[in-house]
Amino acid sequence: MHYINGSWIDGSSDFAVTNPATGEEVGRVADGGAAEATQAVDAADAAFQSWSTTTAYQRSEKLYAAWELMTERHEDLAKLMTTEQGKPIRAARNEVKYAADFLLWYAEEAKRIYGETIPSGRPDQRFLVMRQAIGVVAAITPWNYPVSMLTRKLGPALAAGCTVVLKPAEQTPLCAKAVFEIFDEVGLPPGVINMVNASDPAPVGDAWLNDDRVRKLTFTGSTEVGKLLGGRAATNVKRVSMELGGHAPFIVFDDADPVHAAKGASLVKFLNTGQACISPNRIYVQRSIAEEFVTTLAERVAKMQAGSGFTDGVSIGPLVDEPSVAKVERQVNDAVEKGARLLTGGQRLTSDGLDRGHFYAPTVLADVTPEMTIHSEETFGPVAPVIIFDDEEDILAKANDTAYGLAAYLYTRDISRAWKIAEGLRFGIIGINDINPTSAAAPFGGVKESGMGREGGHVGLDEYLDTKLVGWSV
Ligand code: NAP
Repeated sequence: MHYINGSWIDGSSDFAVTNPATGEEVGRVADGGAAEATQAVDAADAAFQSWSTTTAYQRSEKLYAAWELMTERHEDLAKLMTTEQGKPIRAARNEVKYAADFLLWYAEEAKRIYGETIPSGRPDQRFLVMRQAIGVVAAITPWNYPVSMLTRKLGPALAAGCTVVLKPAEQTPLCAKAVFEIFDEVGLPPGVINMVNASDPAPVGDAWLNDDRVRKLTFTGSTEVGKLLGGRAATNVKRVSMELGGHAPFIVFDDADPVHAAKGASLVKFLNTGQACISPNRIYVQRSIAEEFVTTLAERVAKMQAGSGFTDGVSIGPLVDEPSVAKVERQVNDAVEKGARLLTGGQRLTSDGLDRGHFYAPTVLADVTPEMTIHSEETFGPVAPVIIFDDEEDILAKANDTAYGLAAYLYTRDISRAWKIAEGLRFGIIGINDINPTSAAAPFGGVKESGMGREGGHVGLDEYLDTKLVGWSV
């Protein structure tokens, strides 16, 4: 169902949602297009005047109530996410907590949309700077974090006083529906948030990008689609924020503990079965500790169990669909053909009923070189490619040699080295001996082709606010 102007609306046709672990149909949702997309903008545009002039305290109360309800429904949402998206239930619980954090953070931050006064050079003049809601925001979200990618946009948009039209990924509309149910139940006025589902996203995107009433596009997804939509948004000068793909380097220096670093690499690389934008895609380890690092990493990965996210002990869920498995298989085969050493994994998983879903074995590749596709293309799957390096001098150039610039990690106990490398890495997020440099309170986002703008933290609110200058003669 779509959610437009405070009502759940059926469509004339629908599409199936399947469990990627089993291939079973778990629901059907209405299939929308340009007509529903425009109806959603009609509703959001009509609601903007009154929503944007509510007090910050009123908007904060709604976000706080949504946080309370999401927290109450934590377990139900986590189970739905495991069913629809496939991630192990513990990871799903973590995501729901992370998603709810954005509602709470922006419930608080709504009250801190400050302006400023600026001294003028003229004695009879004063300057006042106001910050006001941008208007109707179009939000398009991916399937890999199907609840938090919505709240990371809805939280700041609502806090700022914007109204929203949102299209969730076609693989995870049930999680999106559950988020909208929460806002519906807390009594958000009709039209403030609207959702359109579609099996073909292009007509919805076109309708929103061609509509002058939509003043901003916030997109999370692949760099390829981001470029397409961003280019179109530029033609009528819409504000844009983009959270796109990544190709994170993970650098382990010789003064780091190789066992500790290998543990970190195994945890962050295989998070969400490698389907995370901040997933390491090039693991660089300095030669003198490489053997211990690689052995520990391969041992840990070989023990990882794949299967249904509801099964105890499973840490590797399915990939989202068959093309994703085929992409991983192609990258691994290409690397092995070009000389990479396969230390564990390296094949599809089909026994014990896994052939009903989309499973690929957690894999470690050593001796990866720049000629291999995996060295430059985002994997989005459970493959850890390891590269040995010798010199600190050229590791920075190697790490930065990518069109992407989202996350980067480094392990060292040398504080000068940590500082210099963190400064030199051309990425938006750096983890120093840390594999989870994310929080609702902190700015998340990339540079270069990984995107523009930030989500989270107080700067996340700026993305939904225009700055207005008032010059005042007194
Ligand atoms: P995607 O294929 O780019 O899709 C993202 C969203 O865009 C989906 O809702 C999709 O709809 C929609 N879309 C695709 N083509 C469109 C068009 N022509 N007009 C309007 N909407 C369109 O990406 P994905 O496979 O869902 O997500 C994986 C990618 O997201 C990875 O590259 C990952 O790194 C990135 N990501 C980045 C972040 C970050 O914060 N930087 C976070 C999570 C994921 P359909 O579902 O109907 O195709």
